[in-house]
Amino acid sequence: MSTNASLFDRAQRVIPGGVNSPVRAFRAVGGTPRFIARAEGAYLFDAEGRRYIDYIGSWGPMILGHGHPAVLDAVERAVRQGLSFGAPTEREIELAEEILKLVPSMEQVRLVSSGTEAAMSAIRLARGHTGRAKLVKFEGCYHGHADALLVKAGSGLATFGNPTSAGVPPEVVQHTLVLEYNNLEQLEEAFARHGQDIACVMIEPIAGNMNFVRAEPAFVRRLRELCTEHGALLVFDEVMTGFRVGLESAQGLYARLLPGFRPDLSVFGKVIGGGMPLAAFGGPREVMEKLAPVGPVYQAGTLSGNPVATACGLATLKEIQRPGFFESLGARTRSLVDGLLDVAREAGVPMSGDSEGGMFGFFFTGRLPRHYGEVMATDKERFSRFFHAMLDRGVYLAPALYEAGFVSAAHTEADIQATLEAAREALRAR
Ligand code: PMP
Repeated sequence: MSTNASLFDRAQRVIPGGVNSPVRAFRAVGGTPRFIARAEGAYLFDAEGRRYIDYIGSWGPMILGHGHPAVLDAVERAVRQGLSFGAPTEREIELAEEILKLVPSMEQVRLVSSGTEAAMSAIRLARGHTGRAKLVKFEGCYHGHADALLVKAGSGLATFGNPTSAGVPPEVVQHTLVLEYNNLEQLEEAFARHGQDIACVMIEPIAGNMNFVRAEPAFVRRLRELCTEHGALLVFDEVMTGFRVGLESAQGLYARLLPGFRPDLSVFGKVIGGGMPLAAFGGPREVMEKLAPVGPVYQAGTLSGNPVATACGLATLKEIQRPGFFESLGARTRSLVDGLLDVAREAGVPMSGDSEGGMFGFFFTGRLPRHYGEVMATDKERFSRFFHAMLDRGVYLAPALYEAGFVSAAHTEADIQATLEAAREALRAR
């Protein structure tokens, strides 16, 4: 039988670092990544046959848990009808209609295959629409690995202590302004200096790439005002938060706090594909119709709107609209975070935590961080020890202190209790 270690050795010979996406390599926490053989409900099973309670959920998409019967049925049916046509299908319309029904800020949507593509395309569209070059992002927010966005990005890169990636010429990022999250002063200054040149501001409204940090309502309010005043587009990157923090996504939560609030463009991924490669960006018709083939902004994809991926996404979106879905997912996720905080308190370990819907974060510090610098100042050694102690006890948390966690509808109260028992032992063991 292959072991995780033997597979990792073999993988490193043929795949850089043995992985196809950096954070999977466990660089931030050390040790050997688990090679997953299969998954079922709330559980992952590795190559050695060990079972783990999965709090990664493929980094967000698996909101129903693994192998949900309605999703499998839809995918199996779609597979038999054809894997890819490179021509339009009715299912693409259905998925677009479903997404638009749930996201009132968008009148049109374009489907793509990854969050990276969606964020990159939204920026090109914002630049094409406004005729401006500059874009604003926030330190610790990750919007995929498009060149212009690899400026102190917070996911994976942060591990290697690299503020930017090699291979991105400085000229390519010269129009990208990076500001501190939740820092009103920097925001005001950026607009005062560059207001008429800013095409868009892109933000993760709840930043899951620095664990779990909410944009403060006053910050979002002012951001909205400044974008409107200066004619810049506000782009909400909801790749992680979309249909994950609630059926209304993060923009719906902010609209409740700030009546009438809406972003100009939105970017989705993860949950809308239910585990298949699918992402999207959308906004008002007036802006979206600047896209090819009707407008001058080019954007395309061989597998965009893929018939199997759209079937998977549609089935997933149908399930999460069942009455009470987010109430019970939110309650379960809260009980996990509350439980962790209790366990930490009993053990005399400083911890803070937060959650919304099926997304959560916890920090080894007594106060919730407000931006990237504060996240990275939390106790990394303690996090790594805790991560491994949990993994040894069959609980699979995100292998980096700057990543959010995810609970699925398949997680039971018993799974949560087993997780808390593992945490109790892990914190006692030190
Ligand atoms: N935006 C956000 C907020 C993300 O979390 C991610 C991926 N974790 C991306 C964009 C990029 O998506 P993908 O990995 O599908 O390219």
